[in-house]
Order: sequence, then structure tokens, then C-alpha cells
Amino acid sequence: MAINLSREIVHSLEREKIKEIGNTNFYLCYQCGNCSAGCPCAEEMDILPHRAVRLAQLGQFSRLIESKAIWVCAACITCSVRCPRGVDIAGFMEACRQIVLRTRKVDHLSPVELDAQLLKELPQIALINNFRKFTG
Ligand code: SF4
Ligand code: SF4
Repeated sequence: MAINLSREIVHSLEREKIKEIGNTNFYLCYQCGNCSAGCPCAEEMDILPHRAVRLAQLGQFSRLIESKAIWVCAACITCSVRCPRGVDIAGFMEACRQIVLRTRKVDHLSPVELDAQLLKELPQIALINNFRKFTG
């Protein structure tokens, strides 16, 4: 897949937003892959966590925020704990989600989309956590 690189792209506004919202410096990542190796959701992701970080380093934010991976992430912080460089990948993923929710002002999930039976059966804490994650 071709990657378009320029000074403007690599030094984009999204880079600063992700660093600020995620409170982590993803440029410290040296692509060891420990985060992806321990991620319990990796099989369902279209972009593995270490590759998501690499895309951000290269300024490829449109591909990152269009990915399924940022929504599949369960925010379990396994990746952040495993990172030898102290990159908070869970915070990075959350920052990507927040950028989408804040800039597009469209929630990723609406209560009306959920099956009524499912709403009755799911633990309330799971619902609350998911609406925190999927809505702006
Ligand atoms: S564990 Fe840390 S250093 Fe290794 S690839 Fe993931 S983010 Fe990068
Ligand atoms: S926080 Fe997200 S990316 Fe990190 S290990 Fe958990 S599910 Fe995977």
C-alpha cells in the first residue's frame, strides 16, 4: 500500500492532538511488536496496534481513524503494560477514537441500534463502559 509522505503530512495537527489527548509520545515506539503480541483483540483488528502506531509516526491519520482497530480495542491496557518504551498504546487508541467522535460529532454506537433483549441481558457496567467509549 502506497504511503504519501511530506513534511506537512508528518507534522499534522492530528499528531499533536493524539499526543495531547493520549498523553503519550508514540515517537518512542521502535516497532518491537510486544503490544500486538499481547493484545487480546488483535485477531479482530484490521491494523495491529504496533502498525497503528507506525501509521501515526508517518502521519497517516486518515487511515488510522478509518480503521476498525481503534473501535475493536477493548482498552484493556495490556499493550501499555508490555511496552518497553513506555508508550501508552491504550491511551493512543482512546485518543484516536476521541478525535473521530469530536471532529465528526457522530456517535459510533446508538442505544436504538441495540437489540432490546441484549439491552436487558448485558451488565449495566458493560453498557456504561461501551457508551463512554463509543459516544462523544
Ligand atoms: S510495545 Fe511499544 S515499542 Fe513495541 S511496538 Fe508496541 S508501542 Fe512500539
Ligand atoms: S488496550 Fe486495546 S490495543 Fe491495547 S492490548 Fe488492549 S485491546 Fe489491544
